[in-house]
Amino acid sequence: MDDEEHIFIMNLFAEEEDTIREAEQVLNSEIGRGDKLLPHFDKLLNAYKKLSRQTKRIVRMADNLQRDLNVATDRLSVLCRIDQLTNIANRRCLEETYSIEWQRSLRSATPLAVIIIDIDFFKQYNDSYGHAKGDTCLQIVAQAIKQTLKRPQDLLARYGGEEFVVLLPETNDPGALNVAEGIRSAIEVQSIPHRMSTVSNYVTISVGVCVMTANLLDNKDVHFFRADQALYQAKENGRNKVVIWEAEGGSTPQLTTLPHG
Ligand code: GH3
Ligand code: MG
Ligand code: MG
Repeated sequence: MDDEEHIFIMNLFAEEEDTIREAEQVLNSEIGRGDKLLPHFDKLLNAYKKLSRQTKRIVRMADNLQRDLNVATDRLSVLCRIDQLTNIANRRCLEETYSIEWQRSLRSATPLAVIIIDIDFFKQYNDSYGHAKGDTCLQIVAQAIKQTLKRPQDLLARYGGEEFVVLLPETNDPGALNVAEGIRSAIEVQSIPHRMSTVSNYVTISVGVCVMTANLLDNKDVHFFRADQALYQAKENGRNKVVIWEAEGGSTPQLTTLPHG
């Protein structure tokens, strides 16, 4: 029993302890000495003490069980937010964090970047190398992306299948493009052989980016949709590319492809 638990139990049973102390004082005093009821009183007091000890034990057990339950609940809530294959955040965690970051962007008027990453020709990879190799490839890609993220508030999540999403709070267009290109090249340098890809001998990714400062007219779905459009463009433009959605001059949307060697 630690000190805190001891104090808690002492406070909880303070009244009972007083009663016991008073009863003992009476028993040890001259009052009622020789009274026939005294042995019964003594017996009753001992039964009361025993009951009090047992109740304390039950309270202690309930307290320990509550602690174990709290630990288990905390572990479960972490597990519920992690993708079991890649050990990074899952979609549920992404949705929660995305809402929080969108609201933060609205409050602080700072840009929020979203990056959608999709492995190129992954169906062919699975078909050619098998599902187990496909799973390993997903793990390598997840870890390689994670290594490129430097700020504690950056989030990488598995969106589903062979798609990943990165959230970069307080990040503008050049910053987001820089991170996105870093991710693209980080996967390229893994040099995971891909004999069925028509764009490279190795596994590559296509990347869509959108940076917006949250406002009251748009919601985060618009933000994500624009990044998805940019990703679609990256696939159309030949894959293994980064494309950013840009609102040039605040009106006409532009899709800018980041050139790479
Ligand atoms: P694109 O270049 O246009 O992105 O084509 P793609 O083949 O990558 O995309 P498509 O959506 O056609 O296929 C995605 C594949 O990802 C289908 C499925 O076999 C594979 N996949 C999804 N989830 C998993 C997984 O958990 N493990 C493995 N091994 N494969 C998965
Ligand atoms: Mg896909
Ligand atoms: Mg794909």
